[in-house]
Amino acid sequence: MQEKCGVVGVFLDEPKEENHAAISMYYALFALQHRGQESAGIVISKDKNMRIIKGMGLVPEVFNEHNLGDLKGTFGIGHVRYSTTGGSKLENGQPLIVEYRGGRIAIAHNGNLVNSKELRKKLESEGGIFLSTSDTEVIAHLLVKELMKSDITNAIRKMMRQLVGSYSLAILIDDTVIAVRDPLGFKPLCLGEMEGGYIVASESVAIDTLDGKFIRDIKPGEILILGGGRPVSHQVYKSQHTAHCVFEYIYFARTDSVLNGKMVYDVRRRIGETLVNEHAVDVDIVSPVPDSGVTFAIGYAIKSKIDYIESLIKNRYSSRTFILPGQEMREIAVRLKLNPVCSNVKDKKIVLIDDSIVRGTTAKRIVNSLKLKGAKEVHLRIGSPPIRYPCYLGIDMATRGELIASNRDVEGVGKLMGSDSIGYVSTDGLVESIGISSENLCMGCLTGIYPVQIPGEKCVIRQLTLAGVARG
Ligand code: AMP
Repeated sequence: MQEKCGVVGVFLDEPKEENHAAISMYYALFALQHRGQESAGIVISKDKNMRIIKGMGLVPEVFNEHNLGDLKGTFGIGHVRYSTTGGSKLENGQPLIVEYRGGRIAIAHNGNLVNSKELRKKLESEGGIFLSTSDTEVIAHLLVKELMKSDITNAIRKMMRQLVGSYSLAILIDDTVIAVRDPLGFKPLCLGEMEGGYIVASESVAIDTLDGKFIRDIKPGEILILGGGRPVSHQVYKSQHTAHCVFEYIYFARTDSVLNGKMVYDVRRRIGETLVNEHAVDVDIVSPVPDSGVTFAIGYAIKSKIDYIESLIKNRYSSRTFILPGQEMREIAVRLKLNPVCSNVKDKKIVLIDDSIVRGTTAKRIVNSLKLKGAKEVHLRIGSPPIRYPCYLGIDMATRGELIASNRDVEGVGKLMGSDSIGYVSTDGLVESIGISSENLCMGCLTGIYPVQIPGEKCVIRQLTLAGVARG
């Protein structure tokens, strides 16, 4: 199971109220709700005791005034979890608390390890007992093992040396909140200052929500310790290249976040402009698939000088269709979610813009419904290149067989979607729009070239050097 989640950690020197840290994390998690709708959890530490509240559902379904009032303490971590499969259980919810001889630690993880099976086998052969199948438990075991031998920073460094894959972590150990980002920086993680202290979070929108000040991204390979006063940084690993996930920019992150120094809104708008350069088409209106296609469509409309007019309205209360298990459910969910605006559609030539096509369910259904309402032509323009390969590093998209573009060329996909034409942004166009060079991005889902060795997969390894371990 892949973990595509949101994490937060807060440390306050001067809390306004006894549960100020918990309330701050509640709002921060609310801001990160798009990163996970399956479960939410907060752990607060006070006088060496940890209190946890976690539950299934959305952040406001799990927390209320009453239970947040119980979470007294000045520092803690939180998590929202995303699921795409039916097997969602509270046991998989995070943060995860582990007891060991030296005390207790709590971990919140966003990412996916590619060597967790081997690590787990090794730990089991040494007598380790696991309660779940999650990567996070493997991380916890490794960390505890190292904590018995070393100080916190060294223990985390030694743990990191063994992990292959993506991980942005918020960890609670003793009197500290610790943020850790994997040496390639797959998943986002940033630092902000807020009233009374500091916050680390998956995306900058969490900091904005608390009226905090964004300070910077946590660097790939960095351990950042919040323990009172200014955060302490240990850059324990340095790699020649990063591997920031392109899909965060295409779909996953919120449009108003800044990731790795790039504003997601600007990236999506530029992709829309690039789509005009690469696949211009003579139409009457530009329409987005809401909400995921909106910023791309704005870029397309401005650049092409064609009117931006909505041809579909989204039901605000439908959750993301992708999270529903089973194909039949998914098709109902698309109908539930989007409905055409007849008067805008009838007799119109439309360029319809979305961020991505994964299985093809959404696009096919929408093209069909626009045609049924009298659209003369529907031209699809997509803000990502074709997704042909699975993601092993934390975006749960689909298996190779389910990916509509995995064994078809672009025209074949367009035909299946029933559109009059189809155009995907090129890989070069995407990279230019993001503004980070391709050697510093992970584009495994688009190219089949992964930046780390994936067991059992044929893939071309990008050369990476983990240059030594310095301070800490
Ligand atoms: P599909 O209908 O399977 O082609 O999915 C594509 C639609 O789902 C697009 O409109 C995207 O906005 C959205 N989407 C793409 N990737 C994901 C993902 N990993 N999780 C949830 N939704 C996604």
